[in-house]
Amino acid sequence: MTEPHQARKRFGQNFLSDPNIIRKIIEAIRPQTGDRMVEIGPGLGAMTEPLMARLDHLHVCEIDRDLIARLKEKHPPEQLSIHEGDALRFDFASLVPDGAPLRVVGNLPYNISTPILFHLAEFADKVKDMTFMLQKEVVMRMVAEPGTEEYGRLSVMLQYRFQMARVFDVPPGAFRPAPKVMSSIVRMVPRPVAECTATDPVLLGRIVTAAFGQRRKTLRNTLKDYLSEADYQALALDPGLRGEKLGVETFVAMANHVAARDARG
Ligand code: SAM
Repeated sequence: MTEPHQARKRFGQNFLSDPNIIRKIIEAIRPQTGDRMVEIGPGLGAMTEPLMARLDHLHVCEIDRDLIARLKEKHPPEQLSIHEGDALRFDFASLVPDGAPLRVVGNLPYNISTPILFHLAEFADKVKDMTFMLQKEVVMRMVAEPGTEEYGRLSVMLQYRFQMARVFDVPPGAFRPAPKVMSSIVRMVPRPVAECTATDPVLLGRIVTAAFGQRRKTLRNTLKDYLSEADYQALALDPGLRGEKLGVETFVAMANHVAARDARG
């Protein structure tokens, strides 16, 4: 018989154990035969097995060798492709060589939630949708509106790429071992590229980081390396505002203005 698995803190292992919650998550994902789907961090298979029951094939990406060995023992490669290693380095585009859009799901390791979201955002043009479990506090920041306390760099950079909605909350008791915090399910759908595009996404990232670097300060202060009074006038934007008041479109307009101005020389 297989030994019980000892949950590893360094891999953010909190395994789902509540069958009702698992069922609700699978319902929220709505897997359809023929979907191209990847699960990040399958763990002991709480979501993997119900997903496999509805799909022809599933990809998983897992870092823990013990868990990988268990998965291999249980599931043949025709049904489950196991990508061994760090999801932060995984090339999700490799799963869609034919361009069929990818569905990404997972009860994510909370210790790497922000870097994994930023990594996945790079593949937004390959993705149909993503459904994740994360700390509720992170989900609240992802979906936050301008002017609220939770609104910040994570909100702007993800809302730039995705429409997002908090689906439902999950209490600590649904996991073994129980995490210290509440969790939430979030659904992310890529926005059409034409809707709002930064000509230089790296510059957009730098401007957003600077604007939220010192929350109490105005744009005039935080963005002094990027925008002058003349630029604010051209953008019809009040430099006395704080970054937390500005929507994604305004950040993109600022970044595009700076890019165009610098290109003119
Ligand atoms: N899906 C399982 C469940 O719901 O019970 C496990 C969820 S647990 C919160 C996170 C899973 O992600 C674990 O299986 C862990 O080993 C895996 N993991 C942690 N860091 C990872 C990484 N960098 N790349 C891939 N998998 C990772």
